[in-house]
Amino acid sequence: MKTRGTVPEWATELVARVCKDYGRRPAVITSWTRKDRTYSSGVTWDRRRNITIVEGTDALEARTVLLHELAHYLSPVGWDHNLRFWTRCWELHIVYGHLPTAIRTEFAYKAKAQLALVRLVAAYASSQA
Ligand SMILES: [Zn+2]
Repeated sequence: MKTRGTVPEWATELVARVCKDYGRRPAVITSWTRKDRTYSSGVTWDRRRNITIVEGTDALEARTVLLHELAHYLSPVGWDHNLRFWTRCWELHIVYGHLPTAIRTEFAYKAKAQLALVRLVAAYASSQA
């Protein structure tokens, strides 16, 4: 079953917090739909200005998907899913998200996600040495 809904408060707050931290105007969630399935999905469109989310039953996955779309919103149009995009995306998952869920869903989604996280963790580890 598919239900068109209002944007949940946690999502509005997350968008406001992330965009404020990155010095950007809050992204606009133009559509938030709920479905009776586990996984969530999202799209960032109209030159990265608008975000559409379909929320499944796993709340942590919905958060992960929203952060992924916010990483698109905060990235230049040409980045798509390049390594710099994934680095930004992991920064968002680490600071604002649920890392085990993000690792599970993003690794299943794109192989470059793995490489970007490995590099980010390696760079962090060497900065702490
Ligand atoms: Zn994406």
